[in-house]
Amino acid sequence: MRITSITNWAYGITVVLTALSGGAFMMSSHSALQERAAVEEHLALDTLAEDLALGAELGSDDARLYVMRGDERYLEAFRAGENSERSREATATKLAAQGLAPGEAEALKAVVRDAEALDKIELAAIEAFQRGDKTAAQEGLFGAGYERVQGALVQTVAHFRDLTAARTGAQLEAARDRSNWWSLVAKIMLAVTGALFVAVLYFVLRRRVVKPLMQMTGIVSRLAKQDYTVEVPVERRADEIGEMNDAIEIFRTNLIERERLDAEQRADQRTKDMILQMMHRVQACQNQAELAEVVVRFIPEIFPDLAGGLYILNDSKTALTRAGVWLEPQRSEAAFPASACWGLRRGRSHESGTKGSDVPCRHLEASGPTALCMPLTAQGDMIGLIYTEERGENALGSGGARLYLELIAENVGLAIANLQLREKLIELAVRDPLTGLFNRRFLDETLQQHGQNRSGEQIACLMVDIDHFKRFNDEFGHDAGDLVMQYVGQILRETVGPAGTAYRFGGEEFTVLLPGLEEDQAAELADGLRRKIGGATLSHSGRVLGTVSTSIGVAASPQDGSIETLVTRADAALLKAKAAGRNRTVMASEIQARQ
Ligand code: GH3
Ligand code: MG
Ligand code: MG
Repeated sequence: MRITSITNWAYGITVVLTALSGGAFMMSSHSALQERAAVEEHLALDTLAEDLALGAELGSDDARLYVMRGDERYLEAFRAGENSERSREATATKLAAQGLAPGEAEALKAVVRDAEALDKIELAAIEAFQRGDKTAAQEGLFGAGYERVQGALVQTVAHFRDLTAARTGAQLEAARDRSNWWSLVAKIMLAVTGALFVAVLYFVLRRRVVKPLMQMTGIVSRLAKQDYTVEVPVERRADEIGEMNDAIEIFRTNLIERERLDAEQRADQRTKDMILQMMHRVQACQNQAELAEVVVRFIPEIFPDLAGGLYILNDSKTALTRAGVWLEPQRSEAAFPASACWGLRRGRSHESGTKGSDVPCRHLEASGPTALCMPLTAQGDMIGLIYTEERGENALGSGGARLYLELIAENVGLAIANLQLREKLIELAVRDPLTGLFNRRFLDETLQQHGQNRSGEQIACLMVDIDHFKRFNDEFGHDAGDLVMQYVGQILRETVGPAGTAYRFGGEEFTVLLPGLEEDQAAELADGLRRKIGGATLSHSGRVLGTVSTSIGVAASPQDGSIETLVTRADAALLKAKAAGRNRTVMASEIQARQ
C-alpha cells in the first residue's frame, strides 16, 4: 500500500475516532446533566413533602394556640399559613398530574387529602371557638380524631418521600452509570486514536520510511563510489519507497551497462590501436619471414582467446605451408593442399564448427574448437590463409573479432602480395632468365661487397667458356644454342651446389665464385665440371648436337692477387686455356709462374 494511502487512511480513521470520542464525551455530559436533574427533582419533591408536613404542623400549632388563648395574632398566622399551604397543595396537585409516577401521585394526593382533612378540622374548631363553643373547639383540635389525622399525614408524607427517593435514586444511579460508560467509551476511543497515531507514526516513519531510506542512502553512496557489486534489495512494495527502490535499481543497471560499454569501448580502442601498430610494422617488413614474425607477435596480443597460424600459398597455388604459428592451435595441419580448405576454395571466411553447422575443412582434425579460415587475397589472387581457432568460449562470435580479423587479413594479404612482387622484381633484376643463374650485375655487386668487407677471406673464381659455341648456333639454330646454354647452367648449379655461386657472365661465358677454396682445389672442381659437362651427348628437336666442351680459367684471392683483379686473372687464365687448344683448365698462378 502506498504511504500516501496509509497516511490518508490513518488520517480518516483518526478523524472518525476523534468525532466518536467527542460524541461519547457529549453523551457522558448529557448523562451527567440527567444525573443532576434527578438530584434536583428528588430535592424539590422532598422539600415539597416536607413543606406540606411542616405547614400542616405550623397551621395546627397556630389553630391550637388561638383556641387556647383567643389571641387574634395566631388566627392571622393560621390564615397566612393556610394561604401558602393552598399554593403548596396546588403545586402538589399539579405535580401529581404531570411528571410523577402513578404510585407517587397517589401518595402525594393522599398527603394533600390528609392535609386538607386536618385543615378542615382546624377550620371547624376555629369556627366553634368564634361561636363561643370553646370546649368543642378544644376537643376538635386536641381530640383523638385530630391526632389520628395528624398521624396519617405524617405517614403519607413519609410514604411519598420514600417513593420519590427510591425513584430518583434509581434514576440517579442509571444516569451516573450511563455517564461513566460514555466517559469510558470516550477515553477508550481517545486511547485508540493515540495508539493509532503512534503506530502509524512508527510504521510509516520508522519501518516504511526511515529504515529503507537509510538502506537506499548506503546503496547510492556505494554506487557513487562505483561499487557496482552492491545489491539493491528486491522490494515488492507498491509505494513511494518501492518506486525509489525501482528507480535505484534502474540507475544501478544503467551504470553497470554504461561501465560495460565503456570497458568494451576501451577494449575496442585498444584492439584498434594494436591493429594500427601491427599494420605499420607489416608495411615496413622487408620479407615474408619478417612479416610472419610481426603477425605471430601481434595477433595473440589482439586476440588472446584465438590460437592460429599464418599459411602461405606456394607459387603454383597448390599447397600451403605454415609460415608462423601462435598460441598452439590444435586442429590444423602445418602443411596441406589448397583444395583441403573451404575458405580458399570459396574465397571467403569459412567457419568449421564442431556442431555440424557447416562442412569442415579437410586440413582440420575432426574434433576440436571452432576454427575460422580466412583467405588472404590481393587483387583477386589467393596469397595464403590466416587460420584461427577458439581457446576461450565463443571467442570468434564475440564483438568485432571477425570484423577485425578480416581487416587484418586484407592488409596482411596485400602486404604479402607486395613482398612477393618485390621478391620477383629483385629476382628479375639479379637473375639471367635463360639459365636461371645470377647475372653479371649481381656478380659485380657480390665482388664489390667482398672488396668492401676486406676481410681477407679466401675465395676462388672460375671463368667458364663453352668451346666453339657459335657452331651450335650456326648448325642447329639459336634454340639449340639456348639449350646448350641452359644445360651448362644446370650442370654448374648442380656441381657447385652450396660450395659456391654460379653466374652467367655474358654470352656463353660463366663465372663461379667459390668462397674458402684455394686455387688448386678450385681447379680440381673445374676439371670435374668440365668432365660432367662433356659427359653427355645433347640433342634438340630430334637432332644430335653432340657433346659440349668447355675451357676454364682459375684464379684465387688473396695470396695470388686482390679481389678486384680476381675475375681479370681468371679470364686471362681462360684465354690461355683457349690458346692452348681449349677443353682444359688453366690456373692463373701457372701463367705468372711461366712469366
Ligand atoms: P670459342 O671457342 O673461341 O669461345 O668460340 P665460340 O664460338 O664459342 O665464341 P664466339 O665468341 O665466336 O661466339 C659466341 C657466340 O655466342 C656469339 C653469339 O651469337 C652467341 N651467343 C651469345 N649469347 C647467346 C645466347 O644467349 N644464345 C645463343 N643461342 N647464342 C648466343
Ligand atoms: Mg666466349
Ligand atoms: Mg666460347
